[in-house]
Amino acid sequence: MKTYQIATLEGDGIGPEVCQAAVAVLKAATPQTQLQFEQLPGGANHYLRSGHVLDQDTFTACQNAHAIFHGAAGLPEVTYPDGTEVGNDLHLQLRFKLDLYANVRPIKLYDPAFAPLKDLKPGGIDYVIVRENTEGLYASRGGGTLLRDSVATDTLVITRHGVERIAKFALELSRTRHGAPSDSVRRLTICDKANILRSYAFFRAVCQDVAKHYSDVVLDYAYVDAITVHMVKRPGSFDVIVAENMFGDIISDLGAATVGGLGIAPSAEIGDNHALFQGSHGSAPDIAGKNIASPLATILSGAFMLRWLGQRHDDASLVEAAQRIEKAVEDALKDPLAVPADLGGKASCTAVTQAICRRLA
Ligand code: ATP
Repeated sequence: MKTYQIATLEGDGIGPEVCQAAVAVLKAATPQTQLQFEQLPGGANHYLRSGHVLDQDTFTACQNAHAIFHGAAGLPEVTYPDGTEVGNDLHLQLRFKLDLYANVRPIKLYDPAFAPLKDLKPGGIDYVIVRENTEGLYASRGGGTLLRDSVATDTLVITRHGVERIAKFALELSRTRHGAPSDSVRRLTICDKANILRSYAFFRAVCQDVAKHYSDVVLDYAYVDAITVHMVKRPGSFDVIVAENMFGDIISDLGAATVGGLGIAPSAEIGDNHALFQGSHGSAPDIAGKNIASPLATILSGAFMLRWLGQRHDDASLVEAAQRIEKAVEDALKDPLAVPADLGGKASCTAVTQAICRRLA
């Protein structure tokens, strides 16, 4: 039996409950594979106890694991003296240290009833946001300045190397898909603010350079302010969107809202040698411990992890398990008793998880 080590960071807030739910589903989907989930401390609560958000031992375990699986981290009241949140440092440090440069966020509509938009068909929204994850404005975290308590600065960082690799990743991803739902055209939308800042004009120019080698993918452009309108008014026209770090962060929450909310939006952070999987949402402390959080984003992130592991280790059984989880989620959501509260239903975190596990059995 093949064995995979999964470094598991439950984190804070709803992190532990959605992580445990997803682990139950992943185990149910892989009876022929041994997924060894190693529980590791990390996040805001761990910082309060130990003074560290990410211990060296935890980092080493993440570095040596086949993949990293994460619930969510951060508590609004646990901050550094400069006011920024401590908990986010858990995955931010992992991103930078393990060079997880591609943050991949699929936006898929399961049921038009979950969407706040009108006149949609099932599958009418199906695109992927590829957010550059190690540069952009967030590269400045911890390095900004505050002068005389009157001027604060953070620097936006864009490098040719960083844009080349994220553009290549996004274009390759488009090649594996079937195009945008509205016209089946393989399309890369470059989301930037090239009309205002030189750094974004450079981002766009480098994407265009890389795209010259992908004549089968149509290039499309959208300023970040305009894309928020297109994502609401014609979401079916997108296939893959590539964006700078902060823009990608913001538009992926909007994208998630158009298909039902953060609770159904998975996320993967992928580098050349490591990858971390967690829902797109944060630790949602307002609903933590009440058994009402949706585990779907974390479960779908787990399926993403299995597919990534399967492709990387040439293990077809894991790719097949990923497909079975996605199908089980789709089937479960047709049952009103398995729909979580954020999608308009009444099912608890536990009930959603059990409904999916039953379909996998
Ligand atoms: P971060 O900046 O770390 O991404 P955030 O402060 O933007 O986090 P989230 O923790 O993502 O915020 O949550 C925003 C709101 O979305 C929560 O208050 C909660 O109501 C809702 N939410 C997030 N995740 C879920 C979930 N899994 N199930 C149900 N509701 C959720």
